[in-house]
Order: sequence, then structure tokens, then C-alpha cells
Amino acid sequence: MQDKISRRTLLKGGLIAGACIPAFGLIANEAKAAGLTPLSPTDPTAVALGFVTNTAKVDDKKYPTHKPSQRCGTCAQYLGKPGQARGGCNIFAGHTVPDTGWCSAWAQKP
Ligand code: SF4
Repeated sequence: MQDKISRRTLLKGGLIAGACIPAFGLIANEAKAAGLTPLSPTDPTAVALGFVTNTAKVDDKKYPTHKPSQRCGTCAQYLGKPGQARGGCNIFAGHTVPDTGWCSAWAQKP
């Protein structure tokens, strides 16, 4: 019976564990995002900042500096990844906003 653990076995175990760590991180991030709820346009803070789910619906008289190219997906506060339909927002903690949305806190993503 061989009780010693070979160097090869330790190395294999380390490689498998190292490969699993990023996967666990992704799962944790998705679980965290799953706890977010879609931001309602009637949320008091959303109303105060003129939030809309579609940037094409912005009242340009009320927000004359708004441009059609401005949307959550191009905002510095947006936490979603490119191509995602929704993502978190630094301004509205606990909620997701649509890539197509907009509010008056919009700032160009660097
Ligand atoms: S701060 Fe940016 S990402 Fe957040 S709702 Fe406003 S425009 Fe969208």
C-alpha cells in the first residue's frame, strides 16, 4: 500500500483547483446579479433623474443636452457587459437598468 502522495498527484490536484477558482467567481457574480431587480421608472429616485427605459423616449425639452446616442450601455455608471440587455448601475444600487435606458446622471464611459 502506498500512503505517500506523489508530486504528480499534488500537481494535478493544484491544476484542477486553480481551474475551478475562476468558475466559482463567475457563479458568485451571476448569483449576485440575480438578486437585483429591474429599476422601475416610477421609483422616486428614477423619477427625479428622469430615468426612461428607452433613450428615444427622453423629453428633449426637459433635458436639452440629451443626445440619442446616450444610453445606459455607454454610461460610465453602467455595470453590465457589452452585449448584455440589462446590467447594474452605480446610481441605482440593487437594481438593473436596460442597455437602452437613460437618466440625467448619464456620463460617457471612458
Ligand atoms: S446613471 Fe447611467 S447607467 Fe445608470 S440609469 Fe443613468 S444613464 Fe443608465
